[in-house]
Order: sequence, then structure tokens, then C-alpha cells
Amino acid sequence: MATERTLSIIKPDATRRNLTGLINAKFEAAGLRIVAQRRIRLSQGQAEAFYGVHKERPFFAGLVSFMTSGPVVVQVLEGDDAVAANRRIMGATNPANAEPGTIRKEFAEDIEANSVHGSDSAENAAAEIAFFFTPDEIVG
Ligand code: GDP
Repeated sequence: MATERTLSIIKPDATRRNLTGLINAKFEAAGLRIVAQRRIRLSQGQAEAFYGVHKERPFFAGLVSFMTSGPVVVQVLEGDDAVAANRRIMGATNPANAEPGTIRKEFAEDIEANSVHGSDSAENAAAEIAFFFTPDEIVG
């Protein structure tokens, strides 16, 4: 298995409920290492750019409004097959469809306020990591 890096975001519904530690404990227990981390407030422009691929979707405005509604924690996870591993630990987008034990099953409020973001491919992971971090901010 290849060591990879992926971008993770702990979303405003989770920071609001003080769940950052519980969420990161799941990543660490599964063997992913947090090699960069910052707590920020996304601007409207940042949220629109980050989710640009969804700009034609009916939920885009609501998603941008939600993602700017409170602090987020942006972080880089590193480990074996980190992109897929992170997606497995997160669970399905809609918590109603998420497997037991996943972050979204345990913590998500609904399909929008679903507690975490994770890159969906190695290519997107590289772009999303570069969106928030410079190489010297990532300490493996
Ligand atoms: P992800 O990769 O599992 O996060 O899912 P997507 O890339 O498809 O969607 C990005 C984010 O948009 C999701 O994590 C949700 O926060 C939100 N989202 C996706 N689908 C819906 C939807 O049908 N309704 C609403 N309100 N939000 C959605």
C-alpha cells in the first residue's frame, strides 16, 4: 500500500458541538497521522472556490452558507491509502446511509451538516491540500 496524503475538514456543525477530538481520535485509531492542522473561519470566497465543482447544484448556496457559519479545522492526514481510508472512516455523505462506527453515522446532523470533508481522489487531494497549506506547513 502506498503512503498518501489527503485533505480533511472538520465542518462547523462538529466544531460547534466540540467534537474535534472525538473525530480525530477515529482517524488516529485507524492509523492516519495528522501532519498539518489549522483552525480557521472560511471566507465566502474560499468556500465558493473550494466547492466550485458543485456550483450548479441546488444545494450550493446552502453549502457555502453552512461552511462559513462557524470555525472549521483544515488538516492533512497521512497514511496507507489515506484517501480511501479517510473516506471509509468518514462514511457515506448522507448519514442515513453511513455504516455503523463511521464519523458521519455517529456525529453528522444531516446530509449537509455531515461533520467532515475528505478528498475523493489522489488528484483532488493534492489540489485541496495546496488550497490550504504550503509544503513547509506539512510535517510528516
Ligand atoms: P462528500 O464527498 O461525501 O462530502 O460529498 P459531495 O462531494 O457529493 O458533496 C459535498 C458536500 O455537499 C457534502 O459533504 C454535503 O455537506 C453537501 N451535500 C451533498 N449533497 C447534498 C444534498 O443533496 N443536499 C445538501 N443540502 N447538501 C449536500
